[in-house]
Order: sequence, then C-alpha cells, then structure tokens
Amino acid sequence: MPRITRRFHSICRQKFGGILPVIILLLLGLLMTDSTSTALAEAPQSIPDPRPAHHVVDLTGTLAPNDVAAIDASARRASAHGELMVVVVQSTDGKNPREWTTRLFNQFALDTRRRNRGVLLMAALADRKAEIVVGNGFPAGITTATDAVMNGVVVHHFKAGNPRNALLQGAQSIADRVVPWGLTAQASSSIPAIPRDEHADPENPVSGTPGNEHPIAVWMARLGAFGCLGVALRQILRRRPRKCSRCKVPMGRLCEQEEDKHLEPGEVKEEQIGSVNYDIWSCPSCGETLKTRWGAIFTHYSKCGTCRYRTLRTNSRTITPATEYSTGLAELTESCSLCSHKRTYQRIIPRVSPSSSSSGSGGGSSSGGGSSGSW
Ligand SMILES: [Zn+2]
Ligand SMILES: [Zn+2]
Repeated sequence: MPRITRRFHSICRQKFGGILPVIILLLLGLLMTDSTSTALAEAPQSIPDPRPAHHVVDLTGTLAPNDVAAIDASARRASAHGELMVVVVQSTDGKNPREWTTRLFNQFALDTRRRNRGVLLMAALADRKAEIVVGNGFPAGITTATDAVMNGVVVHHFKAGNPRNALLQGAQSIADRVVPWGLTAQASSSIPAIPRDEHADPENPVSGTPGNEHPIAVWMARLGAFGCLGVALRQILRRRPRKCSRCKVPMGRLCEQEEDKHLEPGEVKEEQIGSVNYDIWSCPSCGETLKTRWGAIFTHYSKCGTCRYRTLRTNSRTITPATEYSTGLAELTESCSLCSHKRTYQRIIPRVSPSSSSSGSGGGSSSGGGSSGSW
C-alpha cells in the first residue's frame, strides 16, 4: 500500500505539483476506511463479513453476480455438515497466506463451536496464491481431501487462466468432498484415507493439529454400539428361563395368540401399537402364570393420564418458531388410542442459544489445518 501511494504521489507531483496530491491522498485515505469499496485494503480485519446474505467476498471484481449466486448455492448445500466461505483478494500484502487465512477464519468464527467444520477458500490473485483452511472439528486426514481439491481443481483452473472456474468449482468441490468428509461412507470412499502419522507435514507445523478431538462420526458409532449392546442385554434378560415358584420346574413362554387371553384390553392395545411387549410364562405342571412387561425403548407413545396405559400420542405444530432473540410458540395435541382422552394446549419454545446458530461470536475456530497452492 505505501508503495502505491508513494508512486501516486510522485506522478502527481510531476504533473500537477503543490496542493493537488495532498487532496488526492486525503480522498484515498477516506476511501480506504471503507473496505468494501476498494480493493486496496486487504488486512483480515478489513474484510467484511458477508453473512447472512452471502458466503463469498470478492474484492477483485472477478466474480459476476451469478457466480456469487452459484457459490452461495454451494454454501447452502454444505450447511448440512459445515460452513463454506470464499474470499478473493488481490494480495495478502506480503503476509504468510496460511496465517492470513487462518486469522480471517477465526475472525469470521466459521460454523458452530460444537461442530467446527468451517472451510475457508482464499485466493490472492496478484500473489498467485490460494489457501483452503479448515476448522478444528475435522479429522486429521482431512488434508487428503483439501489437497485433492486445491491441486486438482483450484490450482488447475488458475494455471489454465480461468480464475472464475477455479473459485466456482473449488467451492463446489469443497461443498461436496471436503465439508462432508468422514461423515458419510460415500464421501470418505471417494478419497482414500491415509494413516495419520504419514500425513504429518514437517514444513507446516500448524496443519493437522486436531489430534485429541473425537469427531462426531466416532461418537455416533460408539453410541450406536452401546445401544446395540443394551438391546442385546435386554433380549437375554427377557428370554432367560423362568422357574415356577411353587413346583420349581421350568416354565414355558406362551405364543402371541395364547398370550392375549391373559392380558387386559389396554395391554393388548399397547402390544398392538408396539409401545409395550408382554410375555406370559406358564407352568406345565400347575398352570401358574407369570406376566413380564417390557416397555419399548423407541416409541412415540407415552403414558395416558386418564387410562394409565402407554397409549398416548402427542403431536406438535410450530405456530411461531423461536429465534436467537425471541421465544417461539408450539401447539401440542394429545390423543389416546385406547380411551377418549384428547387435549390441545400451547407451549413456549425456548430461545435458540447463540452457540447453536451458524454465525456469531460462539462460532468455530481453526488452528490452520488445510492446503496451500500457487500457480
Ligand atoms: Zn407350577
Ligand atoms: Zn387413555
């Protein structure tokens, strides 16, 4: 920047002398305070946050309005699993592009703090440099995906002299291949995973830092395993042999049709809708019966306040959705599939906490993991 203004100053002095260059410098100074209207100010702090209207900042005039719309569409698609942002500047003014981009990522606090799967694609056109910086919520192997997009798409199109394609297809590839990486079987199989230690990059110590964080997928798998274990344990407990308390001989379990004769009408209804399972054990010698009750783990039904059976279904309809600033209102309708119980009432939906919204100070952070490219 000083270089440019100095040159301007000398041109002005040659041609106009005296007062004019001072006025022009003052005007230039005024312009520079508004970072959106000039491509000169390119410190991270001066990059305006385009959200919520857009997910792209172009200070170079490279992108046409429909290009911006296409990148915004990619960002919308990515929003199911993370947050995509594209920033195009002329230069990082001699600053290390990775550090510059990481600072901007943290300034924007991309994605939510909990999910932390923000991805920032930065291109500095005059420097001929690009960066993809990812949030700390990604697994360490994510650089396989960012490298593939950086080299195969972004740098490829920049080298071919097509910056619009580099940015548009770069954003599209990030939305499809980087943001959902490691979450779906399809996304992780499209890019082969590499072992963690092979990926360590000695030249770039900031990359691949998220080591002790457990990605959501791992926790989901663990939860799933726990659930399966619980269900299996229940089955073992349910099917374990019973002995008659009087004769001490093993009892037999009755089949479904036989069972219904020993159940109340309300219990038959619970079995029909799947909210509760009953087993009837019967002694072959004295005819003594034993009833065991197994409530379903996953069911929409709850206990009815009138008939006391687990036959109550509650449907919810949002009247006014909650926002970060105001509570919402929902209408709930209870109806029992056994008795005539029916009730409609309203309930307040609590405000959405800022940390779970997609922007704001409670957002994601990055230690600078990702990929660099130049052309
Ligand atoms: Zn018996
Ligand atoms: Zn009822």
